[in-house]
Amino acid sequence: MKICIIGAGVTGLILLLMLTQAGVKPQDITIIDPHFDGGDICRKWGGIRSNTQWGKTITNLRKVLPGINIPDSFDLEATTPLEAIGQLLIRLTTPLPVKRINGFVTRLESKSNWRVEYYSQGPRTLEAPVVILAQGSDAKVGSLPIPSIPLECALDARIEDYLKPSDHVVLYGTMHSGTLVMKNLNRLGIRTTAVYKGQPFVWDRDGAYDGIKQEAAEVADAVVAGAYKNLTLVPLEEAKDIKATWAVYAMGFTPRSIEVVVKGRSVVNYDGRTGQIAPGAWGFGIAYPNLAPDGVHWDVSVAAFALHIEGQISSILKACAHS
Ligand SMILES: Cc1cc2nc3c(=O)[nH]c(=O)nc-3n(C[C@H](O)[C@H](O)[C@H](O)COP(=O)(O)OP(=O)(O)OC[C@H]3O[C@@H](n4cnc5c(N)ncnc54)[C@H](O)[C@@H]3O)c2cc1C
Repeated sequence: MKICIIGAGVTGLILLLMLTQAGVKPQDITIIDPHFDGGDICRKWGGIRSNTQWGKTITNLRKVLPGINIPDSFDLEATTPLEAIGQLLIRLTTPLPVKRINGFVTRLESKSNWRVEYYSQGPRTLEAPVVILAQGSDAKVGSLPIPSIPLECALDARIEDYLKPSDHVVLYGTMHSGTLVMKNLNRLGIRTTAVYKGQPFVWDRDGAYDGIKQEAAEVADAVVAGAYKNLTLVPLEEAKDIKATWAVYAMGFTPRSIEVVVKGRSVVNYDGRTGQIAPGAWGFGIAYPNLAPDGVHWDVSVAAFALHIEGQISSILKACAHS
């Protein structure tokens, strides 16, 4: 085996397609995941409408996977539930005869090869010259002394299971997911205080990098027009004394931790432009987003992950050839 991929979310699945298209034999690839269900885009955010038109997503996938027949599947102008992207990648990768291990990776150590430690009905190890981490991220959670509703539940109908009409929710974050949570809370008539950093909303249509668009932009427009009667917007500096019964945190993501050890030391950083963590080790996807061309923002979308990986394939192939 030459390459071990950790995580079979959209990023791990795109890696399978791109590496095999670049000439790596499927038999030389092992991929480890505890679930093999398409990752969070299916598991957690599946019902949310993508903020990217279907046509844009598949145009970018076709650009990086010219040898693979990617069907149109949906109206190109439309946005789809996010799980449609995960399901497409599952369909495209299922026929590949790579080695799939149902397991959970805990630690990687660089020896002559990478030693991958994982659990799969007990502790196990394997060795590979090249490892690629794509284990994804979890939503950041704040430390308020009140209960919080998990973001994935706050984003869909499960929010109703948590709330009664007299509740007051403090919502941290007013970007893409924060605005969608506002919509859910407004539908239920729940009193909401939304806490923002800097300014409440920045719109893609105004040229803001990673600004809100589609449904999120419509919600923000409605809030600004005063249509959300139960909602108050508060800047972070004034948010200390809010008395709420529930919190929802929609304030970004933190990578799932896997210890990477080189020469006896834990490596915690990666190169934001190449995804490289250490010689023979790369990280991609939402856990290792790529630095945008402006050097300030991070690109977080399926299309951005795919284009970023495309730029690194030749280095990955070189590392395999030297093994
Ligand atoms: C609310 C929301 C809306 C979004 N909207 C869009 C959108 O409209 N368009 C768009 O393109 N993108 C969107 N994204 C961004 C992005 O596409 C998703 O976050 C995507 O799910 C990230 O894919 P991933 O493969 O990097 O990580 P994940 O989907 O998290 O996959 C990681 C995989 O690794 C596995 N794993 C975790 N830990 C381990 C371990 N230790 N060992 C082995 N396996 C492990 C998990 O089981 C999982 O299958 C959105 C994200 C969010 C949160």
